[in-house]
Amino acid sequence: MSADTLSAGPPQIPLWIDGKPQPASAQRFGEVFDPARGVAIRLTPLCEAQDVERAVSAAARAFPAWRDTPPLRRARILMRFRELLEADKENLARLVSEEHGKTLEDAMGSVTRGIEVVEFVLGIPHLLKGEFAENVGSGVDCVSLRQPLGVCAGITPFNFPVMVPMWMFPVAIACGNTFVLKPSEKVPSASLRMAELLNEAGLPPGVFNVLHGDRVVVDALLTHPLVKAVSFVGSTPVARHVYETGTRAGKRVQALGGAKNHAVVLTDADLDFTADALIGAAYGSAGERCMAISAVVAVGTAGDALVARLKSKAAAIRVGPGCAPGVGMGPVISAPHRAKVAGYVAQGVKEGAELVLDGRGLSVPGGEQGFFLGPTLFDRVRPEMAIYRDEIFGPVLVVLRAATLDEAIAMVNANPYGNGTAIFTRDGAAARRFRNEIEVGMVGVNVPIPVPMAFFSFGGWKSSLFGDLHVHGPDGVRFYTRGKVVTSRWPESAAPAPGLNMPTLG
Ligand code: NAD
Repeated sequence: MSADTLSAGPPQIPLWIDGKPQPASAQRFGEVFDPARGVAIRLTPLCEAQDVERAVSAAARAFPAWRDTPPLRRARILMRFRELLEADKENLARLVSEEHGKTLEDAMGSVTRGIEVVEFVLGIPHLLKGEFAENVGSGVDCVSLRQPLGVCAGITPFNFPVMVPMWMFPVAIACGNTFVLKPSEKVPSASLRMAELLNEAGLPPGVFNVLHGDRVVVDALLTHPLVKAVSFVGSTPVARHVYETGTRAGKRVQALGGAKNHAVVLTDADLDFTADALIGAAYGSAGERCMAISAVVAVGTAGDALVARLKSKAAAIRVGPGCAPGVGMGPVISAPHRAKVAGYVAQGVKEGAELVLDGRGLSVPGGEQGFFLGPTLFDRVRPEMAIYRDEIFGPVLVVLRAATLDEAIAMVNANPYGNGTAIFTRDGAAARRFRNEIEVGMVGVNVPIPVPMAFFSFGGWKSSLFGDLHVHGPDGVRFYTRGKVVTSRWPESAAPAPGLNMPTLG
């Protein structure tokens, strides 16, 4: 949408630079929808390079003083931020639910998972402690330090407007960096609210900034000389682009991509428990979670009984606006995305998969213009079908059959994605083998969505993550700091001067 067509349309979301809201110089705008009504409720400015310059310069100016602020004082500001988040939790969840479409309860859960990262970094004075060795040579001591990098950038997807940014900026800021966040243009409001709360908590101006936009702003951040590190979460093609462009420009980059997460169900699993777990993992948040289970591999004879349970439980899910009580699943994010998901369902039928439950005909009273799709279930899917190969990112669950655990493990390992996976069984030895042999970054044993707690690190393997370090937890602290080792000697007056040979200290 261009500036000319704006007139008296929906309100514009501001940027946040130097501790206050600021207008963008953008001439282009994106529409933010209420997906349950299919109505544009806000406009996101799509920033240009000059906005990036303003935000990065503000962050660069704020860096020296923030870096020199003792970690304990930084932690105290974040402690106040945590209290404000807790008090504002429902409001934040409402913003998430309104712009994303997920249910309010689900949104509350995701805000809680974000707050847990803030709780983790309250221990930053301890997390930044280095090592010290006395007398590594005669009269020589050695200390290792971890220091902040400078201006860091975060680029985030539409599906977790609070949680995913909070995987990044609390850790970066606690480590002494300053930050520029570029949230998804589809869900911009929660980032502004978090900026206001950080300001209220006493964060100095310029330490946290928010820009909006699309590829133009992302590419400007990826090549800006003052940006030292980039954290990205989104789809695999964009993650690859961000990793390649950012590293070519000499930056440290972690880029988390898409997923196709498998649940392997063995014949000895408790099928009622398993089906309940899979329903939540497949259809929660309308399947728009990077850790959603989107493929089930039923081993041996588990298939028929499992599919019957999945069908009746999926058909019972109440679909409607995320803010309405009793609703289990909201709409998907946009009309084009709804059409894309429905297109995959049509293709699955064409390729010969068995359509057990079809969500395409769903009608939600009062939500005729909303982006709703009902839960959809396919059985007897084969690995070459598009509904298995591609990440659909909607309420579509596909069931494949495997004769043995070996075959199931081989199937999961052959998939290009490696974000999350789970096994359902009562057999400890089988679970142990699965845990050991599976080529996936996050593994659940009778746990369908094994998202690590904030004090562990989150990240996938293969096409689900480009880079070496995962987000938050210990990897997050490593990502946002660099190591330095200082070797010191305080020579006494009679000590011999170092010679020309390689020093051996001893
Ligand atoms: P997306 O890749 O379309 O967008 C992510 C971010 O990149 C947004 O901020 C967007 O503005 C920006 N962007 C989009 N196209 C770009 C381009 N060509 N160049 C530069 N920047 C661009 O992803 P999305 O649709 O917002 O989110 C859904 C995807 O995110 C799914 O694939 C999902 O699996 C993935 N995801 C992964 C994780 C994880 O932890 N691995 C977590 C959440 C979501």
